[in-house]
Amino acid sequence: MCIIHRNSILLFSVVIFLCINVYANERVLIRLDEPDRQTVEKFISGNYDVASYHPEKYLDLVIEFSQYQLMLKEYPGIRILQTEEQIKANLHKGKDIDGYRNYEQTLAELQQIALDNPDICKLYNIGKSRGKEYSEMGISFYDDFNHDIWALKLSDNVEIEEDEPSFFFLGSHHAREPVSTEVVMELLNNMIDNYDSGTDMQNRINNSQIWFVPIVNPDGKKIVLTEQDIWWRKNICDNDLSLNFTDSIDGVDPNRNYGFWWGALGRSDEPFTLGYIGEEPFSEPEIQAVRNLIDSHHFVAGITYHSCGEMVLYPFGYEFNAIPPDINSISVLADKMAASIPSDLYGTYESFQCVGLYPTRGTTDDYAYGEHGIFCYTIETATEFIPPYSEALNVCNDNLDAAYILLDRVNSSALTGIVTDQVTKSFVVAEAYVEGIDNLGIFKEAYKSDEEFGRYYRILEPGEYNITFSAYGYIPVTIPNVTISSSEITNLDISLTPAAFRDISGYIAEDITGLPIKNAEIEINEYTSATTNDDGYFTLINIPYGNNSFEVSSPNFITQNTEIIIDETTAELNFNLSQGNFEDFEDHNFSTFNLSYDESYFDWYISSYMPRFGEFYARSGWIFETGWPSTLILRDSIAENGNISFALEISIISVGDTFEFIIDEEVIKVWNSVVRWTTVSFPVTTGFHTFTWEFNKNTSSDLDVHASIDNITFPRIIETGIENSDELLVKNCDLKQNFPNPFNPTTTIEFIINKSENVKLNIFNIKGELVAKIIDKILDQGSHRVIFDGRNLNSGLYFVSLEAGDFKQINSMLLLK
Ligand SMILES: [Zn+2]
Repeated sequence: MCIIHRNSILLFSVVIFLCINVYANERVLIRLDEPDRQTVEKFISGNYDVASYHPEKYLDLVIEFSQYQLMLKEYPGIRILQTEEQIKANLHKGKDIDGYRNYEQTLAELQQIALDNPDICKLYNIGKSRGKEYSEMGISFYDDFNHDIWALKLSDNVEIEEDEPSFFFLGSHHAREPVSTEVVMELLNNMIDNYDSGTDMQNRINNSQIWFVPIVNPDGKKIVLTEQDIWWRKNICDNDLSLNFTDSIDGVDPNRNYGFWWGALGRSDEPFTLGYIGEEPFSEPEIQAVRNLIDSHHFVAGITYHSCGEMVLYPFGYEFNAIPPDINSISVLADKMAASIPSDLYGTYESFQCVGLYPTRGTTDDYAYGEHGIFCYTIETATEFIPPYSEALNVCNDNLDAAYILLDRVNSSALTGIVTDQVTKSFVVAEAYVEGIDNLGIFKEAYKSDEEFGRYYRILEPGEYNITFSAYGYIPVTIPNVTISSSEITNLDISLTPAAFRDISGYIAEDITGLPIKNAEIEINEYTSATTNDDGYFTLINIPYGNNSFEVSSPNFITQNTEIIIDETTAELNFNLSQGNFEDFEDHNFSTFNLSYDESYFDWYISSYMPRFGEFYARSGWIFETGWPSTLILRDSIAENGNISFALEISIISVGDTFEFIIDEEVIKVWNSVVRWTTVSFPVTTGFHTFTWEFNKNTSSDLDVHASIDNITFPRIIETGIENSDELLVKNCDLKQNFPNPFNPTTTIEFIINKSENVKLNIFNIKGELVAKIIDKILDQGSHRVIFDGRNLNSGLYFVSLEAGDFKQINSMLLLK
């Protein structure tokens, strides 16, 4: 490394630069040394082009020169790191070779490597770029962007998938980070060059399957390397539909487009932003290609290279407090890799959890780890995103050891084995659950053995663990005190005994009337399901003994989730569903309960980003000013003691933010940390109540902190069994006498309306107080019937009031207990 040499050149050029005339609108790369957290949040939330951020050390921004001059007043220490001219020079005037590889050179080299090493290298076309898609659609501007995404597999027996751990190395997600392609290519060349018999390198290659994708974003790379815009970061998705590339508007950030906790932070759902997340997760063909690769091989670990910052980053990044369950082993490996890479400025690279910089969503790391448990790292190489090429070569060499540490990690202090069916000996996709790891941290998908070989890998720190293997239809097995040694990989093969099976039948009915519900769905463990017939009966085939999760649902009824142990004594299973009050926002509005936000400064809205139930849910509004809450209010009459329940998700990423659930004036519960979708339930009493969901933000950052709710239910009471018969032509409205009367506790109320109308049906007590709101909505013309349940009311005289347009009628009825 040439630390002093390089810095003096840098200093020298800055001095020269400041003496010459610069156009005010030309962009420059500036550096703020040792920024405090507030300053960093200000720039990140202010939608600045953040080139790099190294906590407590520096923050690099790309800004216009005129803006730099203005900023000097507030931040006198700010300095220009690189000008556009310098970066262009870096692209071309390398000392040793001509400069950074472009797409054509990279592809030619990959083809040559595959040709020269057919036993261990195979080149795959794994997808196409946006530009190629457009070109194939006949949009001629994009004929120059006819790019494919290429992956080279390195292993012995390269033609076939073997029972070996797989690894990936990815480059150039971001267009202006060409050094990342160089690192991937250098690693590939270095491994092949050292593939000599009997060497560690040969063992490495023969015993694993290593995938190299040097250019994830070839279109963007071309924009940079042809100097059309050297600051370009995204792909070239045609956001403004101009049929050509529009600087500053087009493009999706490839490293924000993955589908694990995909979603907007700040203004990143607006196309012109640098971190534009795209229209939906995996909207971009480049990222579909990488996803398909990641999903279809048994990857244990991988690195995605970027520049710059000299950091090794590990998941999660999607929000503060999102601690990965594997935090210990995943961070220790990050530390080891970081310590192996010399830094130009600070001795060695440093390691951080991604979110230690600032939250990012939809990244490769979060997807690979969250979805598949892959130990995926982002390495921010170099100190500038386009260093001079001669330095890029140093960066490549410096990064080799870290890649080998990653590849060798699986050889020690890890657990592997295959899971088979004890009877058939076939491989089983089973969850390998490690106590003390998988029950900690934040949610991620369960780690499972692969389909092809039944193989699992768990990277663990040395120690003793209790490990449970489970799969649907099998009896779970817990192996206590499995010793993980620091010197070798522990092998633990498991054969699972199939659980006994039996068929189960039963009946699904409406709870009050006992009437059968036809076409209701009953689903078990998301594996098998059945539908009720016209008489409400269902039969489920081959349900394994043991604990099973049942979900019973039907439109207009509250979905029921229960755990039931099935064994030889299990008799017929019957379920009762409540119609009740239920808001699932699937109408894409707040109307079911007349939810309002009249005390809110920032309105709640209906969102479809990553719903947990159905397609839509309600999400707190965007808060720009501290102290102004985003509040959702529900006022309704409850006629039966019971519970109000709702599904809840909270993303709180700064200390002091809170989410409150309030009934009337009383704060029932306060949350102040991240909550994954979960259903909560609180007691509620008969009578009229105001329910308030309130999100409060106490920090000034405009990052997307929010709370979401879905599936609100509360004690049904009231509206049950509305039936409509449109056979007879109706001339007059009529509220018929309830039957039976007197009643205990239920009675049927029938009424007729002569045209489609908003109908209110309410029950009052003898003091004239509203005790139950039965109906408040538009009903069709015809006869309607509801069943009223008075089990929580005292004996006495009550009044039923029907209002339909101008029509109004009140009947009395007697509850006798
Ligand atoms: Zn990057």
